[in-house]
Amino acid sequence: MSIFKAPISVIDTLEKIRRKFLWGGVEGKNKIHWVSWDKVTAPKECGGLGVGSIRALNVGLIVKWWWRLQTESTALWSQVITGIHSLSNKPYDYLSKKTITGVWKNIAGTIKDIHGAKLTLNDIFKLEVKSGESTMLWQDNWLNNEKLKSKYPSLYALELCKTCSVAYRILNTGNSWEWKSCPLNAGLSIEFNRLNRDIASCQIQTGQDKWMCLLTPDGRYTVEALRRRIDLNSHQSIILPQISWCKIIPIKVLCFTWRAGQGRIPSATALQHRGMNIDSTHCSSCIGGVECVDHILIGCLYASYIREKIFEWCGIKKQISEMLVTYFNLQPHGVDAPRNVLNYYVYATD
Ligand SMILES: [Zn+2]
Repeated sequence: MSIFKAPISVIDTLEKIRRKFLWGGVEGKNKIHWVSWDKVTAPKECGGLGVGSIRALNVGLIVKWWWRLQTESTALWSQVITGIHSLSNKPYDYLSKKTITGVWKNIAGTIKDIHGAKLTLNDIFKLEVKSGESTMLWQDNWLNNEKLKSKYPSLYALELCKTCSVAYRILNTGNSWEWKSCPLNAGLSIEFNRLNRDIASCQIQTGQDKWMCLLTPDGRYTVEALRRRIDLNSHQSIILPQISWCKIIPIKVLCFTWRAGQGRIPSATALQHRGMNIDSTHCSSCIGGVECVDHILIGCLYASYIREKIFEWCGIKKQISEMLVTYFNLQPHGVDAPRNVLNYYVYATD
């Protein structure tokens, strides 16, 4: 998976194995899948469980080769690859090359998945100019996420040295230009002034030009960062109630909270809803309640008693306890109630 794009059938099989593992299914016998797999793989920012999809992981692993080719340009393997395919180590070169073949064609083809996830190359990588010696002024994407040759095509057509570096044009020639014919005479004075303003915003510094990954704080590419970003973009339509994934709370408690927030725990009504043969949906711990998620966690007298004892055990002041109970009572009955209340539970007792 780190080099080849896995076929959809393979991805589906792997996801099926994970689904069975999560819900405790065994060969030939499935247990109830309480939450759809799409919600399990959705990022926590969308209210999902944040497990992540294998498809996004596959893309993240392959794109790591893009990063390595850019950042390990002096390595032997990198020189072999760029030599075989007549490439530079710049992503828009090998991604746009139509004649590329073999394994690298497969790696470069991942750009379709990137676009499919509503991402572009410029969302992932940026060329940070320091000395400007290895950055091409017109052809590299170094200024405001747009190549100058695309931004000023008429001026680019007049440029004599189309592959000149940023350092050459700004430093070596002292901001002087070499044109086939003067742009001012060609009626391009407005574009020319804009170009000069753009370039003036660039400060040449000491140090080598380097690639940065825009998905991580330190600028280094990680598979996890791209996987998360793809999953985030792919799950924008899923907006579930979020819980606070506090690290000091046991993950088991958080997962239960997440499930309960969606009403997906095995209450009598939920089991009956899924076709299980239930004798009675009435709560066995108190009289008169229907055993739904709200009742189990909030409305049940037994749950209320346990809650009070937990508050007492945790040393939560009586006023806070009463305030929370008032809050519980104000909640409308429905799946939103346990969602909101459980966050208070978890924080009050951690
Ligand atoms: Zn009850």
